[in-house]
Amino acid sequence: MRIDLHTHSDVSDGTTSPTQLVRDAAAAGLDVLGLTDHDTARGWDEAAAAAEQEGVRLVRGMELSTRLDDGRGVHLLAYLPDPTSPALVEELERVLGGRGGRVPEMVARLNEHGMAITVEDVARQAGDTAALGRPHVADALVAAGYVEHRDDAFADWLMAGRPAYVGRYAVPVTRMIRLVDAAGGAAVIAHPWGRHDPSTLPASTLAELRECGLTGIETDHQDHTPSQRRELRAIADDLDLVRTGSSDHHGEGKRDHDLGCHLTEPEQLERLLARAASAAARSGAAVPPGPFA
Ligand code: AMP
Ligand code: ZN
Ligand code: FE
Ligand code: FE
Repeated sequence: MRIDLHTHSDVSDGTTSPTQLVRDAAAAGLDVLGLTDHDTARGWDEAAAAAEQEGVRLVRGMELSTRLDDGRGVHLLAYLPDPTSPALVEELERVLGGRGGRVPEMVARLNEHGMAITVEDVARQAGDTAALGRPHVADALVAAGYVEHRDDAFADWLMAGRPAYVGRYAVPVTRMIRLVDAAGGAAVIAHPWGRHDPSTLPASTLAELRECGLTGIETDHQDHTPSQRRELRAIADDLDLVRTGSSDHHGEGKRDHDLGCHLTEPEQLERLLARAASAAARSGAAVPPGPFA
């Protein structure tokens, strides 16, 4: 069974519609697909209809914007939470507001550096996305010919520490893990060492997050080196955390993240689903159907 649990559609910053993403997943030979758009569940229904048609099993998820106490960002995958859980909805609305709110400042900084793009250019690239982000600013830079690819826009301008980087609201990761659990879902840290030094999320911190209710860590991800993947798998096994592997596919928006480039083992998915089912039973939340319902 081929299982890819972390992908994005154009409901956030992927470049394909949820329907096309599911079709691409079927063509890539995936049996199980996780749709995990940033901070929104808006793509779930469309993806579910396409999954039914294509014979793909859909895992409804989101990738949530959270942070450590020192402000560094952590992406938290939430699988099968009740997307109408009031506390979760309230935080997501703040996060989504912060996503859009920083765009004028980013545009102003790019203007200062001689790149004549406008907030409207960014909005045009974003289309009717639910989760406006730096990738859409990057797309505006590509469209105007200032950089060749999204990745180059990040490297030169948009990454933390670069001239046009502007921070935004994110939820403390410990709080978000508890909110996901209370919404009947299972939380998995996305690419824990992906864009940070491993010291940002060492085994000791992962152990603390497990005490808050963390279910697993995404060990197998393109942004980890092979030796980091091995090390993270060992940490997961040691801490009795579920191990996942995924592509973090963004359509054409991210190089080297093809669907299925990393996979989750079936027994790890089973453990993940069991954890979500027990959170759902404890919370009584109105959780969505799982992939084998
Ligand atoms: P934002 O959601 O606005 O904070 O932007 C973060 C998103 O941009 C991530 O989820 C990735 O899709 C993408 N991203 C972040 N860093 C990079 C990078 N260095 N190169 C390419 N894409 C990136
Ligand atoms: Zn993204
Ligand atoms: Fe991420
Ligand atoms: Fe992602």
